[in-house]
Amino acid sequence: MQGRNILVVGAGPVGAVAALACARFGHKVALLEAQERIDDSPRASTTQPPTLEILAELGLIDEYLRVGLVSRTFQFWDRGTLARIAEFDFERLRGETGFPFVVQTEQHKLANMAIERLGDASVFFGFKVIHLQQDDDGVTVRCENGEQFSADYVIGADGGRSTVRKCLGIEFEGYTWPERFLVITTKFDFAAALGCCLRNYMADPDEWTNLFKVAGDDLTGRWRAVYNTRADESDEEALSDAAVRARLSRIYVPERERDYLHLNLYNVHQRVAKSFRKGRVFLCGDAAHVNNPIGGLGLNSGIHEAWDLANLLSEKAPDLDAYERRRRPLNIEYVQEQTIANKKRLEERDPAQRAKRFQELREMADDPARHKAFLMRASLLESSRRAVRT
Ligand SMILES: Cc1cc2nc3c(=O)[nH]c(=O)nc-3n(C[C@H](O)[C@H](O)[C@H](O)COP(=O)(O)OP(=O)(O)OC[C@H]3O[C@@H](n4cnc5c(N)ncnc54)[C@H](O)[C@@H]3O)c2cc1C
Repeated sequence: MQGRNILVVGAGPVGAVAALACARFGHKVALLEAQERIDDSPRASTTQPPTLEILAELGLIDEYLRVGLVSRTFQFWDRGTLARIAEFDFERLRGETGFPFVVQTEQHKLANMAIERLGDASVFFGFKVIHLQQDDDGVTVRCENGEQFSADYVIGADGGRSTVRKCLGIEFEGYTWPERFLVITTKFDFAAALGCCLRNYMADPDEWTNLFKVAGDDLTGRWRAVYNTRADESDEEALSDAAVRARLSRIYVPERERDYLHLNLYNVHQRVAKSFRKGRVFLCGDAAHVNNPIGGLGLNSGIHEAWDLANLLSEKAPDLDAYERRRRPLNIEYVQEQTIANKKRLEERDPAQRAKRFQELREMADDPARHKAFLMRASLLESSRRAVRT
């Protein structure tokens, strides 16, 4: 196969991995990024086993492990009583994958390490795509700075507000949750204080919390506590020092240790593009779908798509429909359904339902077959194996 001209729009983690994979398969790649640098705001960190398999294929795994934290387990807690409900252990996936654990590595590290390895491929920072047109032979995009690029294929990996998707006129079906998610980054050592692991889901009918440890750029470690805000809570209120300290108090941080490093407030959506391709242009990652982050699936599914697409475009006569045929149902069935169920599990208000959900988790954790089946879905291993067969 002769290398094709592939243009990737958006140098987030998905676009950067798509560009690297296409370059490794011998294509001529250009990567266009609107910003002057990679966004390092605290978003994804949880990297699931099938994604680690892809990073290994791309030769990134050693560095990825070096700058992240390996986490074998995750736990569910009842926040109000500080009782641990259940623990799930990825060791049960040994034999299914060479990586029976997740790695907590911040997403900007992945984007940067993929870009560093792009070699001959060209990366253009400060190139915001504003227009796109295509015919049977190729695609041309125009940037805000007046520059134009032509390619055989375009991969739109330009995030949830994707200009590429809008240029294609593809609907982004779904909804936005009324509440927002607040991320508080702190140095407080929750594992030492609470006896929790590096990934914890704390259920509470009024305000749940997800608690994760990441390495940080200096590799000295820090924690991210993710909360829902009240639907009627203003941004100003949610970000106020008093409200942040009150939220830290509710996850048992003593008063003298309630300082924090960073705050971020996100809108949260469940949306899937009506189509993942139009002509020679594909949507990948958040440009194709967005979901709430509970369970750590959104970016992972985007990386799977990037890898799938790079492989597909490297075939001699690619069946372009195969991408959407495979990826769209997998996103709906595994990523949308699971993240919605994960959110419901944490926020259940009915005491009887809450007790039932806790009991289900306990029983699942105690039953080896169900424990493994739950992890196969939660890690996206089941979806990845299905993609190969589709
Ligand atoms: C709090 C939080 C925690 C999360 N945790 C996890 C997790 O643990 N695991 C997980 O799998 N997912 C998680 N996610 C989801 C994850 O962050 C996203 O799925 C991920 O960022 C998607 O990557 P992307 O490259 O598709 O898009 P983005 O990261 O949004 O990157 C898009 C890039 O395109 C650029 N761009 C935009 N428009 C243009 C244009 N017109 N021209 C050129 N460039 C453009 C942008 O500047 C940006 O660099 C989390 C999200 C949040 C909010």
